[in-house]
Amino acid sequence: MEGLREMLAVMSPEEFRAAARERELEEWRAVNRFCGKCGAEMRQHANPQERAFVCPKCGYAAYPKISPAVIVLVTRGNEILLQRNTHYKLRNWTLVAGFVDAGENFEDAVRREVREEASIEVKDLRYFGSQAWPFPSNIMVAFRAEYASGELAPDGEEVVESGWFDKEHLPEIPHKGSIARAMIDAWLEE
Ligand SMILES: [Zn+2]
Repeated sequence: MEGLREMLAVMSPEEFRAAARERELEEWRAVNRFCGKCGAEMRQHANPQERAFVCPKCGYAAYPKISPAVIVLVTRGNEILLQRNTHYKLRNWTLVAGFVDAGENFEDAVRREVREEASIEVKDLRYFGSQAWPFPSNIMVAFRAEYASGELAPDGEEVVESGWFDKEHLPEIPHKGSIARAMIDAWLEE
């Protein structure tokens, strides 16, 4: 699983897509051996075309479950917000990101994550793109946003350091292959 994360930089998008799919299906099989509702042993759906495990006792069907996370490139004039995470494996500077919570839409999640991690408000959200993120079964939904108000301050728990950087003074940025890097590269070309 960690290997795949490192392979991102050298894989083609097609190779990554295939590997992500394999990894996510592996996770789906691993977490659905027993019914989450009644505890009975799950069985493959009778129709092999149907990608589901079905509970013979209560009928519950478990399809591959993908959990969305948002990631956002926040700009302030000619600068972008980058931060360093305490428990992020690669430890390089990256963008604000986090899981979508129950009841939220993507925009709510972006505003909340930026508020929680950097203590600022953002406006003018624009969709950038998305990327399968099989660690273990997520999808990264990427946005651009513009700084609106507040004083930048890392939360001290998830984020240890944060700052505004212009194109001439970027620290080490995320590896090629990630959507974080794609967003930074697109901004660099503007
Ligand atoms: Zn059941």
